[in-house]
Amino acid sequence: MIVTRFAPSPTGQLHLGHAASALFTFNLAQKDGGKFLLRIEDIDPVRCRDVYSDDILEDLHWLGLSWQAPVRKQSQHMKDYANALDQLRERRLIYPCFCTRREVLEEAKAAGHAPHEGEEGPVYSGTCRHLTEEQRDEKSKSRQAVWRLDMKKALALTGSLSWHDSARGAIEVCPERFGDVVLARRDVAASYHLCVTLDDASQGITLVTRGEDLMASTDIHVVLQKLLGLPTPTYHHHPLLLDVQGKRFAKRDKAVTIRALRGAGMTPEEVRQKAIFS
Ligand code: GLU
Repeated sequence: MIVTRFAPSPTGQLHLGHAASALFTFNLAQKDGGKFLLRIEDIDPVRCRDVYSDDILEDLHWLGLSWQAPVRKQSQHMKDYANALDQLRERRLIYPCFCTRREVLEEAKAAGHAPHEGEEGPVYSGTCRHLTEEQRDEKSKSRQAVWRLDMKKALALTGSLSWHDSARGAIEVCPERFGDVVLARRDVAASYHLCVTLDDASQGITLVTRGEDLMASTDIHVVLQKLLGLPTPTYHHHPLLLDVQGKRFAKRDKAVTIRALRGAGMTPEEVRQKAIFS
């Protein structure tokens, strides 16, 4: 029996792209007689709002989706993320980095690394990787640190890894291209990569479905699973729903939120028909 999940971030209203992803996942679970779970990814207190979480659940209900309780809210599990970070810190697999965003960018440019497209930002040159304890103590007096995964060290431990995408087959892991990714931010004590990895395991997810824009991140998650002794689920990265101009939907496009479509008098069935990947 498969266990799937839909994991929105409550930083705005659900739009048609989210609806397509949720319906796709829900239908897979239904077809298999499996479970469909929800997770609210609300670790960022500045960007996330409770009112959006409530609206998301209400919109999903309106669309005809149901899920198995409880809904997991990441903000209620900060302790779990802190424990995992402690474990990685004790094993010296993460280190504090005091560089500012601008320094990271400038160093990456100087090292000839083009800034990476998407979530990860530029590849970190590793300036803080080999600081001594004294240097760390000194720097921490004036600056807060982010915690980075020592990717080389991690991969030396895990050896080569792969994961399975049900649409694409076996994918070999090569997260070196992201360098030492951030696992705990300055403003939020954990990162997307860490939380998603721990939560998929805690919720017993066997099939992770999400947009293909997040496919590269899966390499990082699989490394973390191996380091933390967690199972690797199967993945399915689906296409992104595009508007008539071929652009992906964004939270700022107010006209395609489920709320706006409801307000304009559309029925759930009409919205469901619009929320299908071509
Ligand atoms: N919270 C992420 C988003 O809203 C989804 C993360 C995931 O499915 O792994 O884009």
